Amino acid sequence: GLDTAFVVAWLEEAAGEIARQRDRLTELDAAIGDADHGTNLDRGFSEVLRALRETPPSSPAQALMAAGATLIRRVGGASGPLYGSAFRQMGRTLDSGEAPGASVTPAAFAEAFGAGVTAVERLGKAAAGDKTMIDALAPASRALSQAVRDGLETREALTRAARAAADGARATVPMTARRGRASYLGERSVGHEDPGAASAALIVAALATAAS
Ligand code: ADP
Ligand code: MG
Ligand code: MG
Repeated sequence: GLDTAFVVAWLEEAAGEIARQRDRLTELDAAIGDADHGTNLDRGFSEVLRALRETPPSSPAQALMAAGATLIRRVGGASGPLYGSAFRQMGRTLDSGEAPGASVTPAAFAEAFGAGVTAVERLGKAAAGDKTMIDALAPASRALSQAVRDGLETREALTRAARAAADGARATVPMTARRGRASYLGERSVGHEDPGAASAALIVAALATAAS
C-alpha cells in the first residue's frame, strides 16, 4: 500500500523539482501570463514542506489535506487554490474511503487522484483542451486508473501517469488558452506550453520518483 511516508516523499520530490525548475516555469508564464508561476509554486511548496515538518502527518489523507490548505493559503496566483483544492480533495476522498488510515491501496489512491482533478475542473471551470493544468492532470488520472485496473505494479502505474502528464503538457503548445490569464491573449497563446500544465507534469513525475 501507499503510506504516509510515500505521500510526504511525493510532496518533497515535487517541491524539489519545482525549485529546480522554478525559472523555466516562470519563463513559460512570462510568454503567456504574468511571469510568476515558478515563484508562486516554489514559495507554496516550500511552505508545504515547512508545514509537514512542523506537524508531521499521521496518514496520507492528513498529509494531503495539510498540503492543500497550505497552498490555498500561501499562493497568491490562480494555481494555489487550484492545486490546493486538488490535494485537499484527494485527502478528503482517502479519508472517506473504506479503510482510511496509515496505508491506502493503489486503487484508492487512483480514485482520490481522480477526485482531485475533478475538483480543479469544478473550481477552474476548465475542460480538456482549454490549455490549462487539466490537460496534464486529466490524462495522468486516466492513465493511472487504467494501469491500476490492469493490475500493473504501483511504480509502473505511476510511471505511466507521469508519461501521460508529460505528453499532455506538450500537447498544450498548439492550443488556444480559454481559461486563466493566458486566455486574454486569445490566438497569441498558441505556440507556448501552458505553465500550469508544465508544473502538473513535474508534480505527477514526482509521484513516480517517490515510488522508486
Ligand atoms: P496566475 O495566472 O494567477 O498568475 P499562476 O501563474 O501561478 O497564476 O498559474 C497559472 C496557471 O494556472 C495556468 O498556466 C493554468 O494552467 C492554470 N489555470 C489558470 N486558470 C485556470 C482555470 N480557470 N482552470 C484551470 N487551470 C487554470
Ligand atoms: Mg502567473
Ligand atoms: Mg499572477
